[in-house]
Amino acid sequence: MNAEHSLYRATANELPDFPELNDSLDVDVTIIGGGLTGISAALELAEQGYSVVLLEAEQPGWGASGRSGGQIIVGAGENGAALQRQLGPQLAKQVFDTSVVGIQWMRQRIQQHQIQCDFQAGQMEAAIRPSHMAHLQHSAEQLDRFGYPVQLLDAADTASKTGSTAFAGSLFDPNGGHLHPLNYTLGLTQAAQHAGAQIFGHSRVTAIQYGSRVVVKTATAEVRSRWLVIAANAYLDQLVPELGKQAIPVGSYICSTEPVPESVLPANCAVFDTRNLFNYFRKDAAGRMIWGGRVGLTNKPPVNLKTKLHRRMAAVYPQLKETPFTREWGGFVSVTRHRTPSIGKLTVNGKPQGNVLYAHGYSGHGMVMAAVGGVTLAQAIRGQAEQLDVLSKIPCAPLPNNGVLHNVGLAAAMLYFSVRDALG
Ligand SMILES: Cc1cc2nc3c(=O)[nH]c(=O)nc-3n(C[C@H](O)[C@H](O)[C@H](O)COP(=O)(O)OP(=O)(O)OC[C@H]3O[C@@H](n4cnc5c(N)ncnc54)[C@H](O)[C@@H]3O)c2cc1C
Repeated sequence: MNAEHSLYRATANELPDFPELNDSLDVDVTIIGGGLTGISAALELAEQGYSVVLLEAEQPGWGASGRSGGQIIVGAGENGAALQRQLGPQLAKQVFDTSVVGIQWMRQRIQQHQIQCDFQAGQMEAAIRPSHMAHLQHSAEQLDRFGYPVQLLDAADTASKTGSTAFAGSLFDPNGGHLHPLNYTLGLTQAAQHAGAQIFGHSRVTAIQYGSRVVVKTATAEVRSRWLVIAANAYLDQLVPELGKQAIPVGSYICSTEPVPESVLPANCAVFDTRNLFNYFRKDAAGRMIWGGRVGLTNKPPVNLKTKLHRRMAAVYPQLKETPFTREWGGFVSVTRHRTPSIGKLTVNGKPQGNVLYAHGYSGHGMVMAAVGGVTLAQAIRGQAEQLDVLSKIPCAPLPNNGVLHNVGLAAAMLYFSVRDALG
């Protein structure tokens, strides 16, 4: 299910058509993928005088970055408590801090480049059952220890922000928020282009030749460079099998309404709930409800998507029972086993490729972390590898990412999580 019919395309500031690359080029850095990872790396490098070519198979913003729920969520794929369990206190804090800096980077770039993307502060995780409040309380304490205070709200305060009595309470982050993801991505793309990056659309990379000068090939051209950044995330396919083993693409789907009454989500914050297969929702600048979630056991386009997501929206907002969804779209999230990103230097057939860097597997938290990934890789190329040293310590266990095994594994995981969600 692609982005053609998304609300974001219908409300984009403009939809530029970047041309196909038809020449052979020789540059400092080649970047594969025109989402937030690739674009933020391109912007940071071009500003520092590096010659940069970004090759995008479709158009910048075509992938997850231009279709997402637009929620700006602190953390690196897991919340404070789970991150700490997985990484230990010191690394968890260092990784978490990169996401805080990532939000600052995003806000600063929006201001600096005057990107019209409707940024709105305020984001919450809402508990669907009283028993889930202990988890939120634990997360709040952990975030406090990280020096990142959030507000633990009871049911009444949550209802006054959401306009719904469906929640037992919530964790509210005034520093998080939401935005128009396509306009944000395209705004950064324009900034990268102004800084000197050469950006090409309709230019799918079909082969990579590794070496001290890397060569990437498209159907009509090739680019040689000192450095290669792989930023194709869930759309990588089989181009780099080594990365395909680290993360699997998982479909996520969104529907939107026409403007809803003010009383629905009056605080205008972004919300996701405490289900394993969570609902996520927010209003856009015109007051349309944007409702997302995971539907179905496999990655096949879901049948009756609108009906299924509508049932979930009406359970939270009964007053929207008669408000139809007018648009639907979806895309792929790249999910790692532990739901934390994988960022580092590539090894191919056991041989480290020191000049090939990658960042992916943001597991649904990429609106902030993809930019962190891109900026981190750009810094490393510029000789400042401190942040890459931190992020590349995140362990990444392999996953079955080929045909049958992937589908069976995904269906089993989805079934398991739906049963757990149903049981509470
Ligand atoms: C429906 C949905 C909702 C989401 N909601 C949220 C949210 O609310 N908050 C949040 O934090 N995260 C969310 N995410 C996740 C977030 O959008 C992603 O993690 C993030 O955008 C990833 O950025 P990226 O640049 O790494 O990848 P993408 O934006 O996917 O970009 C990768 C690009 O690489 C290109 N590409 C692939 N292969 C090639 C090739 N061979 N040659 C050239 N180009 C290639 C693709 O065409 C694509 O444009 C959501 C994702 C989806 C799909």
